[in-house]
Amino acid sequence: MEETLRIALAYIDEHEDDLIGLWENIVRIESQSSDLDGVARLADHLDTYCDALGMGTKLYRFDGAGPALAAWTRPGPLPPVALMAHLDTVHPKGAFGEDTFRVEGDLVHGPGVYDCKGGIAVAFLAIRALLHAGYRRRQLKLLLIGDEETAHALSHEESLVLYRDHIPGCAAAFNCESGPLNGDVITRRKGGFVVSLLFQGRASHAGNAPEKGASAIREAAHKVLDIEALTDLSGTTFNCGTIQGGSGPNVVPDRCEVKVGVRFKSKEARDTALTQLREIRERVYVPGVSTELKMSAGFQAMELTEKTEPLFQIWRHASEELGHGSPQTAFTGGCSDAAYVAMEGIPVLCGVGVRGANHHALTEYAVLRSLRERARILVKTILDLPDDF
Ligand SMILES: [Zn+2]
Repeated sequence: MEETLRIALAYIDEHEDDLIGLWENIVRIESQSSDLDGVARLADHLDTYCDALGMGTKLYRFDGAGPALAAWTRPGPLPPVALMAHLDTVHPKGAFGEDTFRVEGDLVHGPGVYDCKGGIAVAFLAIRALLHAGYRRRQLKLLLIGDEETAHALSHEESLVLYRDHIPGCAAAFNCESGPLNGDVITRRKGGFVVSLLFQGRASHAGNAPEKGASAIREAAHKVLDIEALTDLSGTTFNCGTIQGGSGPNVVPDRCEVKVGVRFKSKEARDTALTQLREIRERVYVPGVSTELKMSAGFQAMELTEKTEPLFQIWRHASEELGHGSPQTAFTGGCSDAAYVAMEGIPVLCGVGVRGANHHALTEYAVLRSLRERARILVKTILDLPDDF
């Protein structure tokens, strides 16, 4: 195994620039989630790339969402390892101007350069290095999804078939999502969902006949306070983030809509939150106003599995041995697809893509040299997995 590692690390050093080239190419193919052509062009580009590496591939196509791509090396004697990332970004085409991949010193700027196209480049550098070193003990699977940034709302969660098809039976997974700047690794994440509360009351002239009206806004005001009071800062949080309603100060409002963002730590906490919201919906403060509750897409929480900690220890050991520091585990309120892997009981480390900051903002950046660093740790971690893992 020592010799395999030596060859793979040497390959990474020799081909780092090559992969920076791939990184640049895929950032230049702009791919906001709703830009289905953009996401499809990126998926096709990477499909061809995988093909050239001798990997098997499958493109999944969906109505209303960009495609997802699965690729795999030959099966080995031990259970496979999955590398994941997403193809879509949050940035509308042109948001970064003409120069969409800009290197300044050790930082690189561009749409999705950090979240999470740098992670795609990390995954490819690791796969290429392992293949070059003759590693055949475990099949390597690459899973790239096309509507992650919308919580899979665009495909109505149909894109999750990618994980159902390829995650069961894996020994471990690595989500090459945007990584914390300090090199920490995410092992737990909150889940989240959004619900809309639709209030339907009765309109009436506010001057002539206020008693004939039933104010949807008044009902909403009570329930906004009820919902926000559920927040437990150390557990589940409820944020009434938008409110819309009414037509003018002289009309008793017959309609109001409140959108609530909920973040939770476990599947159990998610179910509790939903029950609490349904209870609040049932209450009536203003007779004549009805309340409807509508769920939209969301993420499950990423919870620890039995082998998450052992997997992290292998990663940390690899990082230390290679001189890349001693990372800690991180728990964040942001969601990711790693949740769907952990739900299957498969240990997963998240945020192992390039290091950087400011995702979802025009100031998004990644550390250029973290591409090499992350690929090195990833390769050593995969090689160090015990056979019975
Ligand atoms: Zn992301």
